[in-house]
Amino acid sequence: MRFMAATAPPPTSPLSTLKMRLGDMNALHAAIGIMDWDMQTYMPPGGSEARAQHVSRLMRMHHDLFTSDEVQRLVEESSRGATGDDAAMLRVVKRELDQATKIPAALVEEKAKLTSTAFDIWVKARAANDFKSFAPYLERVVEIVREEAEYLGYKDHIYDALIDLYEEGATTADCRQMFDGIRQPLTDLVRAIAAKPQVDDSVLHGAWSEPAQKAFTEMIVKAVGFDFQRGRQDKAAHPFCTGWSIGDIRLTTRYKDNLLSAIFSSLHEAGHGMYEQFSPKEWDLTPLCGGVSLGLHESQSRTWENLVGRSRAFWVRFLPDLKQAFPQLAALDVDSFYRMANKVQPSLIRVEADEVTYNLHVLIRFELECDMLTGALTVRDLPEAWSSKYQTYLGVRPATDSEGCLQDVHWSGGSIGYFPTYSMGTVLSFQIWASMARDLGDLDAVIQRGDLASIHGWLVEKIYSQGRRYTPKELVQRVTGKPFETHDYLKGLTAKYAALYGL
Ligand SMILES: [Zn+2]
Repeated sequence: MRFMAATAPPPTSPLSTLKMRLGDMNALHAAIGIMDWDMQTYMPPGGSEARAQHVSRLMRMHHDLFTSDEVQRLVEESSRGATGDDAAMLRVVKRELDQATKIPAALVEEKAKLTSTAFDIWVKARAANDFKSFAPYLERVVEIVREEAEYLGYKDHIYDALIDLYEEGATTADCRQMFDGIRQPLTDLVRAIAAKPQVDDSVLHGAWSEPAQKAFTEMIVKAVGFDFQRGRQDKAAHPFCTGWSIGDIRLTTRYKDNLLSAIFSSLHEAGHGMYEQFSPKEWDLTPLCGGVSLGLHESQSRTWENLVGRSRAFWVRFLPDLKQAFPQLAALDVDSFYRMANKVQPSLIRVEADEVTYNLHVLIRFELECDMLTGALTVRDLPEAWSSKYQTYLGVRPATDSEGCLQDVHWSGGSIGYFPTYSMGTVLSFQIWASMARDLGDLDAVIQRGDLASIHGWLVEKIYSQGRRYTPKELVQRVTGKPFETHDYLKGLTAKYAALYGL
């Protein structure tokens, strides 16, 4: 009989202890994520008070654990001599720890209280078109965010500290460079399109069956590569994507009287979902898992929504299925449908904006945020500043503040510096697309023959499988061979719409 010597347990290193603590925090985050998902999908209205309490307690537990002396010490000790994935993981954790510890707990608490009230006031103010009742709360939000920025620190512009929270390494100068590059070409394009005859898309408006929309959107979301064994799609008032493991990613969509709304919001969220779903298995439940930044994330949602979903090739492939699901559309031909799906019309509401005008909506918010932070614009003067910028850039003027400066939720939640990531993502999606075309050839031909797996596979290899290993700027350079820039975006957008509108 032979006896095997029992292997000695590995000595506990600071790194292995740290990983255990991070695992605990990951579990808390998962609980918060599930509670939040449930709140936005199935929770009865009576649950909101208890849910808010539960979530805020769990968040406090997470914060206390994360910023504890023990974790700070473990991060410090583990960082010495760390290499490879461990070094990348520690970089991510250090950055988050830095953000979590720089801002005093009292300010964090004050902001949480303020934004919780400000959100309720904003909901009512928007419904009643009453900016005056929201203004004092927004004033305080701007003050607190300014304080936050001072604690976080910045080099050139106070806005740098804030944008960096959402897009690591991005600066105000980066945003300005992007918006300066696209401002004139976009306004010129919008003006040229406005002078052309507009497509009539009334056939897409109606009382569409919800089960049929659910079935159709799930079919296309599956076709682009979202794995329903490791995810699902539900209904929410404001579509979003969330998740807590590569094995469980949740999409949401909405069903409206415009048939395109569910289709494109499903594709958009599926783009976010796949970026999370196809992170490497060995990084699941660790800080290296998932998308690296909001801008990169948005580049993926926009890729599937716009570059794939709004292409003519995609509808050559899927219009027959759409007609089968909705027999009212039997007479529709692919060219007409393609025009309807890409109708450009200046409007007042960002979330309903088309592909061309969208970034002008974001540009307006970026300019206003910078001015509010530096004090160049007071909150009291915001409605007028908002309206005049809409007049200048889009040629439309809101009749009410509800369809003007009260439309977005972000400011009531204290998120200033977030908006530019929407534009960065859109611009970046074209840069990545151009890089993909160099590898895969004519992408319209790829889509038209139904080979979406090639596109999906390329994105998995180049982006999804990289998780948070690199900084956003490093990843962009690696994937596209150059730093972030607007050339591919302007070229691609102009070519598409020049053809569509005969410019
Ligand atoms: Zn998105």
